Amino acid sequence: MPVQVGTLTIGGGHPITVQTMWKEPLTAIDTIIIDKISYLSNIGCELLRFAVPDIESAQALGELAGRVKMPLVADIHFDYRIALRCMDFPIAKIRINPGNIGAAWKAEEVIKKAKGKCIPLRIGVNAGSLPRVLSEDKNVAEAMVKAAEMELDILEKYGFSRVIFSLKSSDIDTTVAANILFSEKYNYPLHLGVTEAGPLVQGVVKNTLAVSSLLKKRVGDTIRISLSDSMENEIIAAKAILQSLGLRKIGIEVISCPTCGRTVFDVKTFLDDVKYIIHKVHKNITIAVMGCPVNGPGEARHADLGITGAGNSVIIFRKGKIVRRVSSEQALKAFKEEVDKI
Ligand code: SF4
Repeated sequence: MPVQVGTLTIGGGHPITVQTMWKEPLTAIDTIIIDKISYLSNIGCELLRFAVPDIESAQALGELAGRVKMPLVADIHFDYRIALRCMDFPIAKIRINPGNIGAAWKAEEVIKKAKGKCIPLRIGVNAGSLPRVLSEDKNVAEAMVKAAEMELDILEKYGFSRVIFSLKSSDIDTTVAANILFSEKYNYPLHLGVTEAGPLVQGVVKNTLAVSSLLKKRVGDTIRISLSDSMENEIIAAKAILQSLGLRKIGIEVISCPTCGRTVFDVKTFLDDVKYIIHKVHKNITIAVMGCPVNGPGEARHADLGITGAGNSVIIFRKGKIVRRVSSEQALKAFKEEVDKI
C-alpha cells in the first residue's frame, strides 16, 4: 500500500526512490547546509534522513524542513519527546520503533500525534539489535520478521497504517530472506539496504547483491545504499542500481571502458572531473568515456554522447560519429556543452 512521505509517494508500485543519510551532527542551519541539500537533490537524492539525538537537533531539523523542498526524515532512538518535538515541524517521516520507546503511554503519544499529523513512521529492524526475546533465535531472518510484527502489533492497536518497514542485516542472505518473508505476509512499503556494508567498493557490492536480488523479485520501494563513504556516492550507487535494473531513468547513465594497453585518454581522471557535472543533469541519456579513438567510438556507438582522446586533442562523438575535436584542456567544457545540446 502506498505511503505519502512529504511530496513523495512510496510503495504501491510508485517509482523506487533514492535516499541517503546526512553524515554529520545537525546543530544549526546555515546556507552551506541548504546549498548542500539542494546539490544532493540535483544529483538524484529524493529523501534525506538525519539522526536526531536530542531536542536541540529536533529544533534545528524542524527549521531546516521548513526551508528546503527535499522531504526530510528524523531518525530517533528511544526518546519519545524528540519524536513529538519533530512532529511540530514539516518533517516528512519519523524513523522510530515504538517498541523501543519504553512505557506504552509514550508510544501511544507518538503514534497518536503521527496519526493526527499524517506523518508516516518507518520501523527499522536491524539484525544486530533484535529484541532480547528474539536474539537467541537460530533463524535470524525469521526473528527479524517477528521483531517487525511486534512493532506492527503496537501500531495496529492504534489503527496506524502509514508505515514503512526496513529489515536490514550486514549479511546479504539474511537481508534478502527477511525482506522476502516480510513481503510475503504484508504489503507495507519496504526500505531496502544492507547495514554496516563497509567502505565504498565492498559496500556497493554487498548492497547491490542484496538490493538488486530483492528488486528483481519486485520487493522494495525505496533504497539507501549505506556506505562508509560520501552521501554523493550513496546516491550515485543507488541511481546506478535502479538504472542498471531498468527500474528508473534518473538522469545520465555512464558507460566507460576499463582501459588497456591502447589507452590514450585518462578515463578515470575525466570521470572524476565530470562526475558531479553529469549527475546534476536530468536527461535520460547514455554517455561514454572511452580510452582510445580506435575502438572507443565503435564500441560505444549506442551512446548518445561519447568522448575519447587522440594525441593532444579529444574527440567527441554522437552515436559513434565524430562531431567535435578540441584540445585536451577544453575537454570538460566542450563535453558539457555537447551534453547541453542534447
Ligand atoms: S576502448 Fe580502447 S582503450 Fe578502452 S578497453 Fe577498448 S581498446 Fe582498450
